[in-house]
Amino acid sequence: MSGNESGFDYDLFVIGGGSGGVRAGRVAAEGGAKVALAEEFRMGGTCVIRGCVPKKLMVFASHYGPAAEEAAKYGWRGNAAGEFDWGQFQPMLHAELDRLEAIYQRNLGNSGADIFNARAVVTDAHTVALSSGETFTAKHILAATGGRPFLPDTPGAHELGITSNEIFNLETFPKRILIVGGGYIATEFACIFNGLGSHVAQWYRGAQILRGFDDEVRGFLAEHISASGVDLHVGLEVERMERRVDGIWVKGTDGREEMFDQVMFATGRVPNTDGLGLEEAGVKLGRGGAVEVDAYSQTSVPSIYAVGDVTNRITLTPVAIREAMAFVETVFNGNPTSPDHENVASAVFTQPEYGTVGLSEEDAREAEKIDVYAAAFRPMQSSFIGSGERVLFKLIVSQATQKVLGVHIVGPGAGEMIQLAAVAVKMGATKADFDRTVAVHPTMSEEIVLMKTPVRKD
Ligand code: NDP
Repeated sequence: MSGNESGFDYDLFVIGGGSGGVRAGRVAAEGGAKVALAEEFRMGGTCVIRGCVPKKLMVFASHYGPAAEEAAKYGWRGNAAGEFDWGQFQPMLHAELDRLEAIYQRNLGNSGADIFNARAVVTDAHTVALSSGETFTAKHILAATGGRPFLPDTPGAHELGITSNEIFNLETFPKRILIVGGGYIATEFACIFNGLGSHVAQWYRGAQILRGFDDEVRGFLAEHISASGVDLHVGLEVERMERRVDGIWVKGTDGREEMFDQVMFATGRVPNTDGLGLEEAGVKLGRGGAVEVDAYSQTSVPSIYAVGDVTNRITLTPVAIREAMAFVETVFNGNPTSPDHENVASAVFTQPEYGTVGLSEEDAREAEKIDVYAAAFRPMQSSFIGSGERVLFKLIVSQATQKVLGVHIVGPGAGEMIQLAAVAVKMGATKADFDRTVAVHPTMSEEIVLMKTPVRKD
């Protein structure tokens, strides 16, 4: 391979073809840089291949069973959902992932970047060695290798347990599934399989699921998830598990014994830095093996940068993409730009859904005096058919500035709603700005501009 003007084979060598890596590679190449990207598995990364995208399609699928029951209550006849057919759904799911993967591959290729379907290892500050045997030099190296599921050393877990990596490839649909963990992935999948008709148990070691989120919301969600049929237990862990003729036998730390078809561990994710050669090249790694970076995603070795989950800042796809864009702007456009990690909105696709931006009540109170506005009620659509499902709207407001510091929404479409609320929060909207916005009637979300009196004041 002949070198370019800088004397290196490439201006940029990206390791990892996920959301962050592909974006950085494509935009840098479109700007005229000579770019290569190596991916050892499938283009698209966790989000497209075994994360957000297939998960969301399963969320959609899981809504139709309960929706058919509700339709009957609204007067529709002959609309019982029947049984979920994994055999029909799964090939459609994988065809869609193949389609998206091809788009990623094509867009990156069209930008002029060279793509290597190989594992890459950093051998020094400017060199990358591929599993294919080739070695390349690059002026800049970008580590965008993401993360992978972590499994605890519970007896039987590594042999019999599955993770979010395997869940989309199951040959048979699990009629009985145990989900271990209480974070995003565990709670979302508990709701998904419950909606699809499985018997679902969720065991979480802590006192309440979704640690780190607003406490009131955590309690509200746990109540609804239990009421919807998930056998949710907190303060409970797997002691051991064994293969039996009719499934997987699981013993809990409280002595209970249960049989399941699958046991899914959603017990966190760890950065993919093992064997990547970064430490040997002088790159400092932090807690759990995460790549340490400065505000511009630069590591302790000036020519090596890192973006996305491998840096364990905010492990969300849109954040990785922003980090990638800021990296290109900084390194290739001569415009030092640090990604903005303030007020990043996110949604937990549980049933009901939870959308959040800004601070929880607890975190806000630690920082300053606050007013809390909240309304929980049965929305029109569910109260009409006597369903107990409630929604929750909550605003955290600074007493000193009257700025809205946090918005929390639980209910149908909360993920969609929070995207718009996030614009207001990002603009520094005050409670008075919310109040002078006229309600859209009849909607659930009108409540967000109608809450007049704080439910709690510091
Ligand atoms: P989380 O960090 O959200 O949750 C991990 C869970 O595993 C916690 O409940 C944790 O318990 C538990 N846990 C950790 N170690 C052990 C152990 N040794 N034994 C038992 N339980 C354990 O990670 P996830 O894997 O659910 O998700 C990873 C990240 O992916 C999220 O943080 C999020 O950023 C992203 N994501 C985003 C989604 C979205 O935007 N909708 C959806 C899915 C993932 P404890 O609380 O006690 O530590």
